[in-house]
Amino acid sequence: MEKGHNLSKSDVIGQIPLACSNELAAVEFLEKQRWGYTPCCVRCGSVAVYQMKDAKTGQRSSRYLWRCRDCKEQYTVRIGTVYEESRIELRHWCYAFWRASTSKKGVSALEIKRHCQISYKSALFLMNRIRFAMAPDPDSPQLKGTVELVEVYIGPRKPRYKGVSGPGRSTLKTPVFCAVERGGHLRRRVVADVTAATLREAIREDVDSRARLMTDEYSAYRWLKKGWTGTHETVCHRTFEYARGDVHVNTAESSHALVKRGIIGIYHNVSREYLHRYLWQFDFLWNNRQMNDGERTVMAIQGAEGKRLMYRPSVN
Ligand SMILES: [Zn+2]
Repeated sequence: MEKGHNLSKSDVIGQIPLACSNELAAVEFLEKQRWGYTPCCVRCGSVAVYQMKDAKTGQRSSRYLWRCRDCKEQYTVRIGTVYEESRIELRHWCYAFWRASTSKKGVSALEIKRHCQISYKSALFLMNRIRFAMAPDPDSPQLKGTVELVEVYIGPRKPRYKGVSGPGRSTLKTPVFCAVERGGHLRRRVVADVTAATLREAIREDVDSRARLMTDEYSAYRWLKKGWTGTHETVCHRTFEYARGDVHVNTAESSHALVKRGIIGIYHNVSREYLHRYLWQFDFLWNNRQMNDGERTVMAIQGAEGKRLMYRPSVN
């Protein structure tokens, strides 16, 4: 069953501001996105469930508990999501999900801290979990059709030495490999280096072997001329050739421009260790760019389900 299957997503954007200011509205919003109109038990899947009420007031219990008639389990909408172990109010989660899904250049933890009046530590925790909710599905299909490949560098420091040109110039920065399917999705990954061996491994994992590849003339792509089933075409940036007919890597370059603006303008400095998390967020925004803001927020919220158990702070 598709999540939220019988909900109209187009009017979601109108409900989000209320969910960001009222805890009950936030809980109900998240419940609706998770279960649609048929709430079910998180343990056994039974739909024989009911909301627990406060005996005195008759309102929903203060922890917004549900109970299953079949397995007697008590649970909340938090169970089995990235916000399960958090005590932060769900309205703040809604706000952070909304901002993270709709700000093209990202949103900083400091800003969430100020807007939600929570501690910086909480805001950082929240943003990290949200980025994890946005992480790509490891089983998503390979890129196909026309695929542009570029390697880019992210980092605050400018090269300190002169006389070295080309990719070697940027060794102080973190290299990121980016593959973009024209009219489709993209994939970015932090790589140890930009040698042919590293890029080959990345390309074989991310791109369908029959794809038509476009790159610049960087030497680490030379093996593609013979070692690739599909075709491989290049533009020569050295001679200021940026496009030849439909041969170019401008889609990849422009997708990366947003990451650069985000790092410079919002995050200022992202360490190599955590860069991949920020890329999850930028990739998510790019890959779902055709959706409206409400649909994209729901997409991120639904990505939060089933991720908690996989989360290992030391690895991710
Ligand atoms: Zn149950």
